[in-house]
Amino acid sequence: MSGVTARNITKKYENQQVIHGIDLDIQEGEFCVFVGPSGCGKSTLLRMIAGLEETTGGKLLIGGTDVTHADPAERGVSMVFQTYALYPHMTVEENMGFGLKMNKVPKADIDAKVAEASRILKLDEYLKRKPKALSGGQRQRVAIGRAIVRGPEVFLFDEPLSNLDAELRVDMRVEIARLHKEIGATMIYVTHDQVEAMTLADKIVVLRGGNIEQVGPPLDLYDNPDNKFVAGFIGSPSMNFMQGAVADGGVRVAALGDRLIPTNVNLPAPGNKVIVGIRPQQLALISAEGPLTIDIAEELGGVAYTYLDAPNGERLIVEVRGKSQARSGSKTDVDFDPDSAFFFDAETEQRLR
Ligand code: ADP
Repeated sequence: MSGVTARNITKKYENQQVIHGIDLDIQEGEFCVFVGPSGCGKSTLLRMIAGLEETTGGKLLIGGTDVTHADPAERGVSMVFQTYALYPHMTVEENMGFGLKMNKVPKADIDAKVAEASRILKLDEYLKRKPKALSGGQRQRVAIGRAIVRGPEVFLFDEPLSNLDAELRVDMRVEIARLHKEIGATMIYVTHDQVEAMTLADKIVVLRGGNIEQVGPPLDLYDNPDNKFVAGFIGSPSMNFMQGAVADGGVRVAALGDRLIPTNVNLPAPGNKVIVGIRPQQLALISAEGPLTIDIAEELGGVAYTYLDAPNGERLIVEVRGKSQARSGSKTDVDFDPDSAFFFDAETEQRLR
């Protein structure tokens, strides 16, 4: 097994720079997820690690060896794509063994490796079928099997679950987590879905515009975001953000009827603007009439998301356990622990601590 190290990695397509000097250490056996909005550079970074994109600048090491300009086949990596890329005329077992066959691996060895991958992925009863007779989830398992039989040091996954429906995505997510437990290889996984990132990762790398915004274990990013972008991206529904004005001893929030949130964080001088963030799970609706107006409540059964309009035009979401009991159009107020509020610089959007 091998770790992966990136040192000041850059990528330019013609004149456009899309990766701006990434430094990253992925440990041996770690499950690392690259997450971020569309176009942030996560696939490009993964494809540079795979050797499918030339690296413009910087250095890339796999297992301590410099592979910056090595052929994909020499890197000890296997990639699983969003679009499965199976051969339609081959059976499941032929698809899984094809790469080894091309490399002239003896048939007995191929059979043993395919049998092992099939056991891990529970594909035994499908080995003689062709891809068209498989569901999307089964096809993706075959694509993962094809990566496993090559015995890579590092598995690379490029949005592997995006083509599956919601229920299958959850099943496959659990399977991939189990696979990582069982084979313990280093895995790097690209997704735009922060729930996949939170549930699968040992380490999340949040990317935006070709830069790393923050790296850390999922709950560190959730509990301790470095900036407004990470705070808003990690967690569902997204964190509520409101304009605040620094006052003596805390921050006044217009959306909450100029309520003062007391805090000990290092704030700029009174009168300056800051951004206040509170997660929907930290807000409670209270029955007293207040400055907020209930817009709608989305009832999901176990929880409800209640959308509130503030007098200054800002909107808040409150997560309510059970049924919301909210009546559209009625006035309400919220309660929260002041220590659950985050504060961000209004200009740089960096966290104030
Ligand atoms: P993500 O995977 O996060 O959606 P990508 O890595 O695919 O993002 O793309 C990052 C940026 O690089 C985007 O702005 C995209 O338009 C650009 N890009 C990707 N591939 C090419 C290419 N072959 N030529 C030019 N620009 C590209």
